[in-house]
Amino acid sequence: MKNDFFIPTYKRIDIDLAAATGAYLIDKNNDKYLDLFAGLGVNALGYAHPKILKAVTEQISNFGHLSNYFITDVQNNLAAKLLSISDMDKLFFTNSGTESTEAALKLVRKNFGPDKKIFSLTNSFHGRTYGALSLTARTNYRKGFEPFLTNIGTIEFNNKEGLKKKIDQNTAAIFIEFIQGEAGINEVSNDFVSELNRLKEKFNFLVVADEIQSGIGRTGKAFAYNYYDILPDIILVAKAIGGGLPLGAMLVNKNLSNVFFQGDHGTTFGGNPVSCAAGLVVLEEIFENGLLEKVSELGSYLKDQLKIIQNKYIQIIKDVRGKGFMIGIELSLSCKTIVDEMLKRKILINCTNSNVIRLLPPLIIDKEQINYFLENFEDVISKLDKV
Ligand SMILES: *Cc1c(COP(=O)(O)O)cnc(C)c1O
Repeated sequence: MKNDFFIPTYKRIDIDLAAATGAYLIDKNNDKYLDLFAGLGVNALGYAHPKILKAVTEQISNFGHLSNYFITDVQNNLAAKLLSISDMDKLFFTNSGTESTEAALKLVRKNFGPDKKIFSLTNSFHGRTYGALSLTARTNYRKGFEPFLTNIGTIEFNNKEGLKKKIDQNTAAIFIEFIQGEAGINEVSNDFVSELNRLKEKFNFLVVADEIQSGIGRTGKAFAYNYYDILPDIILVAKAIGGGLPLGAMLVNKNLSNVFFQGDHGTTFGGNPVSCAAGLVVLEEIFENGLLEKVSELGSYLKDQLKIIQNKYIQIIKDVRGKGFMIGIELSLSCKTIVDEMLKRKILINCTNSNVIRLLPPLIIDKEQINYFLENFEDVISKLDKV
C-alpha cells in the first residue's frame, strides 16, 4: 500500500485491507487474517459487532456530536455503568489514553500544588503528549523531546526498597500500570503493592491506576488492579471502552470529585455520544452478557497451553505471563522471525520490547480460533528449534 503521504512515525504491516469481521481482518484478495492484537487492545468485541453497528447507527441518526454544554442520556448511562464497575465516584470523558493521563496529571497538580512530586515506574507507558510523556519512563519514547515537566520521578518496577526510599510526605501521586503493556506484560508484585499500601496510609499520596490497556475486562477482571489488595484513587481508561471509536475517561474517588471546577478542564470531542453508544454495548457485553467470565476461562486456557509449549521449547520461550487476554510470551531471541512466519500463515501477533510477543486478542475470540493460533505457534517454534 502506498505510504507517500505520511510522516513516517509508524512501522506498517504490508497488508491491503478491505474489510474486517469478528476476529478477522480481510484483505483485497479476500484472504482472512486472525487478528490477535485487535487494534492494539481496542477492538474488544472484534470488528463489525452487530450490536455496535446498531447502537452507533441509531445514535448518529438522532445526533452525533454535541458540545459539552449539553449532557445526554447515552453519556449518563455509560458514566453510571463505568462508575459502578469501578467503585469510583465521578468521571471526566476524554478521547484517548494520553488525554486521560493528562487530565489526571492536571488534577493531581491542582490538588497538591506545584512542589509535590509525582512518580511513575521504570518502563512505564502513559501516553505521548507532553504531560503523559513526562511520566512515560521508556527511554526510546522520550529521546529528543526534553525538557519534560518538573517534579516527576521514576521508581524502579517492583523494587520495594526503591519505593520506600523515594516516597515521603512530599509525594503527590504515583501512576501505575498494574500489568505493564508496552513494557512486555510485566505484572506488579503483591509485595510491591503491600508496601505501596503501607506508605499510602502514612503519607496520603494518590495511586493512579493506568488501566488504559489492561482495563474493561481485558485481564478477566474489570481492571488489572482487581487482582490486588488495593483501591486506586484515580483510574484511567481508554482503548477498549469506545468499542473502536475514540473514547477515554478519568474516574476519581469521592475525595477528588471536587478538585476541578467549571472551566478547569475541557475537551471538544470528549464523551462524543456516538462513542458513548458504542461504549455502552461494550460494557453490556462484557459485564452483563457473560463475556468477562469467558475471558477469564479462555485466558487461563490460553496461558496454560502456552506454558506447555514453553516447557517443550524452554531454550526459545523464556517466560509466559499475564492475565486473561493480556498475555506476554518472552523469547530468548527477537520476535521478528516468529511474527513474520505467523504473518505468512495469516495470523497477526504483536511484538513489544523487541523480544516479547504480546497477545491482546479481541475478547470475543473463541476456543477454536485460540487452538488454531496455538497449533501454528507451536509448529513455528518447533521449526525454529531445528535451525
Ligand atoms: C495505549 C496506552 C496509553 C496511551 O493511549 P493513547 O490512546 O494512545 O493516547 C497510555 N497508557 C497505557 C497503559 C496504554 O497502553
